[in-house]
Amino acid sequence: MIKKALFFFFMITMAIFVLTSCGQKGHDVDAAVGSLSTDELAVDVEILSSDEFEGRFPASLGEEKTIAFLKEEFEKVGLKPGNDESYFQDVPLVEITSIPLSHLIVTGGSKPLPLAFEDDFVGLTQRVQEKVIVTNSDMVFVGYGIVAPEYDWNDYEGIDVHGKTVVMLVNDPGFATEDAELFNGRAMTYYGRWTYKYEEAARQGAACAIIIHETEPAAYGWGVVQNGWTGPNFSLVTEDGNASRCAVESWVTLDAAHKIFEAAGEKYDELKDSAEKPGFKPVPLDLKASLTMENRIRNAISKNVIGLFPGSTHADEYIIYTAHWDHFGKKPELEGDQIFNGALDNATGTAALIELAEAFQQLGSPPRRSILFLAVTAEEQGLLGSDYYATNPIYPLTKTVAVINMDSLNIYGRMKDIRIIGFGQSELDDYVKAYAEEVGRIVLPNPTPEKGSFFRSDHFPFAKQGVPALNAGSGVQHVEKGEDWGLEQIENYIREKYHKPSDEFDPEWDLSGALEDMQMYFNIGYRLSMEETFPNWNEGSEFKLKRDTDMQNR
Ligand SMILES: [Zn+2]
Repeated sequence: MIKKALFFFFMITMAIFVLTSCGQKGHDVDAAVGSLSTDELAVDVEILSSDEFEGRFPASLGEEKTIAFLKEEFEKVGLKPGNDESYFQDVPLVEITSIPLSHLIVTGGSKPLPLAFEDDFVGLTQRVQEKVIVTNSDMVFVGYGIVAPEYDWNDYEGIDVHGKTVVMLVNDPGFATEDAELFNGRAMTYYGRWTYKYEEAARQGAACAIIIHETEPAAYGWGVVQNGWTGPNFSLVTEDGNASRCAVESWVTLDAAHKIFEAAGEKYDELKDSAEKPGFKPVPLDLKASLTMENRIRNAISKNVIGLFPGSTHADEYIIYTAHWDHFGKKPELEGDQIFNGALDNATGTAALIELAEAFQQLGSPPRRSILFLAVTAEEQGLLGSDYYATNPIYPLTKTVAVINMDSLNIYGRMKDIRIIGFGQSELDDYVKAYAEEVGRIVLPNPTPEKGSFFRSDHFPFAKQGVPALNAGSGVQHVEKGEDWGLEQIENYIREKYHKPSDEFDPEWDLSGALEDMQMYFNIGYRLSMEETFPNWNEGSEFKLKRDTDMQNR
């Protein structure tokens, strides 16, 4: 079955490229596209996600193996070192392992309420200091913890939370109410992201920030929070050692939240209700929080891996393909499988980088613009590698035409639909649409913009710096098995494998859809590399002003 589908697909692809590429070095493009292979992709995914690579944790033995492998592959396919003489860009990180010395104790109710680490709450600090202590800190419910002047919204209105503990809801009021007029309706805005909520709490001077976990608005279960928020955690380091962050950044389970509000004589549902409405005022809970955490601190250098395929006539303009090579490493405290192999997330995208680099080499003559292949570190730690590159770029961002990000390819077979995460944001959508039309696929928005996917992979730090960045891939409309089946596969993956040790390579994966997507990535990158235009953000995008300003001043 698979072979047959592949053959069929191969024939179609050949026909399309013969039809569309005549007159522009057609045979080169044919050869390049034809060299993309699921077999090679699978081999590289299997290697990267093998136990030997130990879950590819930044600044670990797993990193050494991973980046050595990538360097070797980049060399093998003929890429030049992307950072002067080197294939690496150092990314200075601080790794902090926060260990609570006690429960998170909430007092002020009828009796002290002890919340147990991992079962009831998780917490960490980004401050580079050996101990953080929060003692009898007044607790305040601050709704969604959002200050958004453009939506005329301020959850901190009329209250000073310096030194206090703020308790807040996940996501944003638009999601909760499904009111299209509130924020961006069901689609998550950056205000819905936990990263934003901690940033805002720090700006407000809070000592401790607590987000209440709920599976639906968070878009993932408590297990994902537990995995991500226990053990070593990385940050980029600021000059003040991240002293401007809250002392404690934490989550509590919904159950724990119910107990907290009960102790305060409040009802969670009522508070939540009021937080969803404009005009919400923060609610002091008359409770106090205490927690001491000891921190193990390790300064570490991790590495982005970067390879360059120089262009011909416009070599100083760049198209960047990105994929994060890192995952969660291993957790010795787990029973059974302790290694987070991250096969789908994101050995697939990393392997695709290699495949695409190889494909570009098959072009008889190089494209006009240069192509960069950037495997970034520490995505799972908060997009740190891509953030570092985007704020410390090796090549000027105003000369960077576009970023094409790959994070978790399609392992379920051919899908009719291509989904763009952040649909409508930039003119790069038009490239996807043009390609889709050529190959008979359709382009749709990401079906679940409420999950905030636009803020959750490596295209985002580039977008923040104004560089048009695309994150697109297969949707769920399986060519043979239909949409319900496709959706079910994604849901199963999120429930059973996403960010868990069970995200392992399986030789039974159907990579025919991943192949189609790689062909799309190649096609779009190639097209951009042959043009002289700089696609921009669309009118109304929050990233357009930055790009316009930067391009004017270059
Ligand atoms: Zn990922």
